[in-house]
Amino acid sequence: GSGNAVARAPVAKTGTDPRKGAPLAERAPAEKTRKKKAKAVGAEASRSEAKLLSIAPRTGPLSAPLKTLGKRLGPRLVAVLDKKGLRRTGDILFLLPRCYEDRRRLRTIAELIPGERGVTVGTVKTADFVPGRGGKRMFRAVVGDRSGSIAATYFNAGPWLKSRFSVGKQLVLSGEVRASMNGREMAHPELEPAEDLENTTSVHFHRIVPVYPGFERGEQRSFRELTSRISEQHAHHLEEPLPADLRRRYHLMGLPDALRFIHFPPDDADLEALDAHQSPAHRRLAFDELFFLQLGMALKRQGIKAEEGISFDVTPERLEKARAALPFQLTGAQARVVGDLARDMARPEPMNRLVQGDVGSGKTAVALVAGMVALQDGYQVAVMAPTEILAEQHERTFRRILEPLGFRVGLISAAGTAKHKREVREAVAKGDIHLAVGTHALLEGGVSFQKLGLVVIDEQHRFGVLQRHTLMSKGLTPDVLVMTATPIPRTLAMTLYGDLDVSIIDQLPPGRTPITTRVFNNEQRARVYEAVGAELAKGHQAYVVYPLVEESEKLDLEDATQGAAKLQVVFPDASVGLLHGRMKPEEKDAVMEAFRDKRIQLLVCTTVVEVGVDVPNASVMVVEAAERFGLSQLHQLRGRVGRGAAASYCFLVAGAARSWESTERLGVMERSSDGFVIAEKDLEIRGPGEFLGTRQSGLPELAVANLVRDGDLLSLAQAEARRIMDADPKLQAPDHQGLVKALEERWEGRLALARVG
Ligand code: ADP
Ligand code: MG
Repeated sequence: GSGNAVARAPVAKTGTDPRKGAPLAERAPAEKTRKKKAKAVGAEASRSEAKLLSIAPRTGPLSAPLKTLGKRLGPRLVAVLDKKGLRRTGDILFLLPRCYEDRRRLRTIAELIPGERGVTVGTVKTADFVPGRGGKRMFRAVVGDRSGSIAATYFNAGPWLKSRFSVGKQLVLSGEVRASMNGREMAHPELEPAEDLENTTSVHFHRIVPVYPGFERGEQRSFRELTSRISEQHAHHLEEPLPADLRRRYHLMGLPDALRFIHFPPDDADLEALDAHQSPAHRRLAFDELFFLQLGMALKRQGIKAEEGISFDVTPERLEKARAALPFQLTGAQARVVGDLARDMARPEPMNRLVQGDVGSGKTAVALVAGMVALQDGYQVAVMAPTEILAEQHERTFRRILEPLGFRVGLISAAGTAKHKREVREAVAKGDIHLAVGTHALLEGGVSFQKLGLVVIDEQHRFGVLQRHTLMSKGLTPDVLVMTATPIPRTLAMTLYGDLDVSIIDQLPPGRTPITTRVFNNEQRARVYEAVGAELAKGHQAYVVYPLVEESEKLDLEDATQGAAKLQVVFPDASVGLLHGRMKPEEKDAVMEAFRDKRIQLLVCTTVVEVGVDVPNASVMVVEAAERFGLSQLHQLRGRVGRGAAASYCFLVAGAARSWESTERLGVMERSSDGFVIAEKDLEIRGPGEFLGTRQSGLPELAVANLVRDGDLLSLAQAEARRIMDADPKLQAPDHQGLVKALEERWEGRLALARVG
């Protein structure tokens, strides 16, 4: 059983010892390196950065303002805390230590090991400014104990340092120990006064000591005292939000105990686990965080299910008729997903399902079958695509298959005359058009349907999370099918779409030849062109893609425009076309059509081709400045080729900024063609925020849990949350009242919609 899963899960192995470079108190240079690292290895870095948990109670004694703690809390500290958003007593408990320092037994200076981080106590012998390298002034203090002495050195130091190192004073030094010509030294050690060293009950010594994020030297000590006071005097006021039975099954510590453990761990705690935020107490909080997230999602899901939806009449004959209308046999995976959809649609509650399938896995066919089920039952279908180009492509596909069966297909588009647009809208409103395709304007604009039964949303990631209430506000509770070709790693899908049911098309239609992918650099472009030329000579077509970075849209446009001119010179016999996001819809259309009709052989474009575009004769793609793309995005792009029978190629040209890291990253593209594998890797490298695009990621801020690392906890949290909701849909059981309260506090009313039902 999984009874022990939380407590027993292994500590994640980190590449570097997290204690290294973890100063006693925060200082600017260290902070900077950590930030940089966070960019490079997003997921990795987030573990050492403690954030303020959002679960500090908003009612009860712990919600009292800090000021009420009395005079011992100086106004200066209160001001500092206030600036950090720490205003209530409870906030203090939920600011987790960034790391820990082992002060169970301090080493003597002689015991310090060069090359390692160390903590020691000594008395200041000398301290002064001395000439350093390059004629710059440097501060150097010598600190000694009975066993020996060590130098503390600071570059660019201000005069204030001298007051810290007053001769004769006892100090705690913490930092990386080095052996130098002049004996041992610590560069830029962190400092704390060693005032109560002899006091065996001191919160600063003889124990594992917490180090908090974002405090300066002096504040660290005052804050530690404050945390100690609050965890001793107030932590027991915290209400336990998790049901006892759940805690028992997973051996989860109680909330007050977990917080006390986290701030002042017992002497026998595993220091490495603490630093990695993987101690039993941290895992308890991480579970807590994920569980309430999932419970909120489960509640939303429940809310949707409680709505009165459409129970489609899904007969085997209708399904068969739909399948027979397709020009091919469904793959096993498609058939399985169609089965999921048919079952959902037959149920009285609204369908809310996400279909994930790699590029080219044939999601459109699946949507077509679902659409035909609704159409045959007399309902209308709305198909939403992220771009005009895709909307038009869908319109063509749907029209080809549906019109012979007597269903009318219409396109709601930004292009065309006002009269035409009005006519299409009217036809939709009257029910003369049965299936309407369009961009998001389809649901948000003034389009009304006569009898809308099914909404298909293609390439979901472009929309962010579906605003289901847009539909509900129109009094509609259609079945919703969301499709995405960005394989979203399981953990992210559960976090973002926890209120959706998920099906996966994990198989490609037969007859696909794998795409050969190679990484090149700027100097190797001639070879790339040679290969492109060879494909064009065979009568095939090519894409050359330039990146589009929003803040410099103009610049990139120039890149693409100049690229097109240059390529026309390189390939004088080919007709070169240009497609970018700033063109008018009609212009884009004309270019796409020319490419589809082979009047354009080489299409230079920005990422507008990223999703869905289907031209089977295109057999080669060149991506310029490939290092600027995320792996998942490259995988998407690459999916534009390899759609026909010919062998296909994808050449990734890494630009000037090519580094070891980007080479390594792009290498993943050479080795794998599985979108899920690539997505997992991408998530690992960039972290969840960047993976999804920080702007509209819709991801909750997690303080303790880590979506890359804590997948096991997340699955557990989701299973438990759904189990509770199934057993007690309105959360009325006495044992669940703690849940209700915690849910309200943590979701801050954002669940209101779901609770309507
Ligand atoms: P995506 O999942 O990327 O949206 P599409 O639905 O555009 O994929 O399908 C990609 C291509 O594969 C299309 O040309 C489509 O006609 C074809 N296709 C889809 N399903 C099958 C199948 N079961 N057998 C053969 N070809 C298929
Ligand atoms: Mg598609």
